[in-house]
Amino acid sequence: MTAYQPVKVTTGKMLIGSEWIPARSGKTFAALNPATEKELAQVAYADAEDVNQAVAAARAAFDMGPWSRMSPRQRGNLLLKLADLIERDKEELAVLESMNNGKPIAECLGFDLPQVVETFRYYGGWADKMLGEVNPVGGAYFSYTMREPVGVVGQIIPWNFPLLMAAWKLGPALACGCTSVLKPAEQTPLTALKLGALILEAGIPPGVVNIVTGDAVAGAALAQHTGVDKVAFTGSTEVGKLVMQAAAKNLKRVSMELGGKAPNIVYADADIDAAVAGAVGAIFFNQGEVCCAGSRLFVEDKIHDEFIEKFARAAKGMRIGNPLDPQTQMGAQVSLEQHEKVLGFIKSGKESGAKVAAGGNSMRKELGGYFMQPTIFTDVDPNMTISKEEIFGPVVAAKRFSKTEDLIKYAHDTNYGLSAGIWTKNISLAHETARKLRAGTVWINCYNAFDVAVPFGGYKESGFGRELGKAALDLYTEQKAVWVAL
Ligand code: NAP
Repeated sequence: MTAYQPVKVTTGKMLIGSEWIPARSGKTFAALNPATEKELAQVAYADAEDVNQAVAAARAAFDMGPWSRMSPRQRGNLLLKLADLIERDKEELAVLESMNNGKPIAECLGFDLPQVVETFRYYGGWADKMLGEVNPVGGAYFSYTMREPVGVVGQIIPWNFPLLMAAWKLGPALACGCTSVLKPAEQTPLTALKLGALILEAGIPPGVVNIVTGDAVAGAALAQHTGVDKVAFTGSTEVGKLVMQAAAKNLKRVSMELGGKAPNIVYADADIDAAVAGAVGAIFFNQGEVCCAGSRLFVEDKIHDEFIEKFARAAKGMRIGNPLDPQTQMGAQVSLEQHEKVLGFIKSGKESGAKVAAGGNSMRKELGGYFMQPTIFTDVDPNMTISKEEIFGPVVAAKRFSKTEDLIKYAHDTNYGLSAGIWTKNISLAHETARKLRAGTVWINCYNAFDVAVPFGGYKESGFGRELGKAALDLYTEQKAVWVAL
């Protein structure tokens, strides 16, 4: 199959109310293609003034506008319409995502876009199914609890799954009747803007979704804005802490989806080939730019050497290059900054004495973009930086283990608790290990399985609140108890 052709990208304006507008300051910034290092478009640079305007539009749509007063079924139907429009334009969106993020087109078409469509369909279905409760009070009273939308939400998202993260945020918020100001990451604003156009085309009223493009200045302005009732944040733990502090200003509701350093555990009785394929997907999917990446690999002593040999062979055989080529398995890191950061971690791993079983180098010179080799370190000590910190790149830190007690200790030796993987044929051992691990998601004999119906979120410093599934409805609703004297 030949490579997909790049799509035409127009200069981005922000979406505020029903208008596509430039920043008030007139400033713009460049959105790049990380696989070519070339500019794709100039995008409006929002500052606090623009955020004020977007919040005012969202406030008006919530307080006076049709959205919160529209019948839930009508709201649901508009989300279903939006899902259809995304499906109609899925190829264009997939190519745009690949161009702006550097991820392989095969992943955009096979994972991101189908998940985005499913997310809007799933929450479109929920809109008219959020039931209240009758409370069991005695005496001369009747009491019921109803769910109401939390209000105007500020939604701040990262660059690794730009469109999917927008869908995870907007799907449940809109189904619940909230209005939103969405801030995509500065590196990847383009698919969010295209989504804005589809939102208007679907007939979702002006001001219900506002999209401000910019950097940390716009993010910080949104997090501290007193006109915002809730902030939903996905990004690094470091920035998540800043957002929480800013949100304290008016005690906004907060939900946090943050970083990870997931242990991927291979017991000696595992199906080795399946576990090797699983370990490849766990760390190299999306160039390792995945919050739940299996970035720490623990392999039982008895099979360690055989496993690493097969794993290294698979890593070395990966097809890296043009993200628009359907055969490509690994694309480019999202930015020069990220490329350099990953290289810095690789240097630190080498200097601290870990062994390189595969990769260990940049491919920027050969390929002309921010490409990296898939990299496997072995003999990693849990105290090494590469074992402790989130690298957010295609680098895995492997360690052998022989006793389960040690394994659990190693697995917990991190501030994160987002996810974990377990490979074994022993069903008791699998469930026993799953129970012991402090992580929001545990995959047994699989990795990166996702479905919009299954809640996702972290323990410890990986965040709190659960996105996806029914659980996400709790993030965007308040409960109101009503008492009636009989
Ligand atoms: P990041 O640097 O924390 O940025 C995330 C978002 O926050 C961006 O839109 C960013 O804007 C904005 N931001 C930056 N400073 C801010 C501030 N002071 N106040 C408010 N907003 C601010 O994260 P990233 O580098 O984009 O993404 C990678 C991180 O996201 C990783 O740690 C990864 O694990 C995490 N992640 C978690 C999940 C999950 O579900 N748990 C999913 C995906 C990613 P600019 O980019 O424009 O500066």
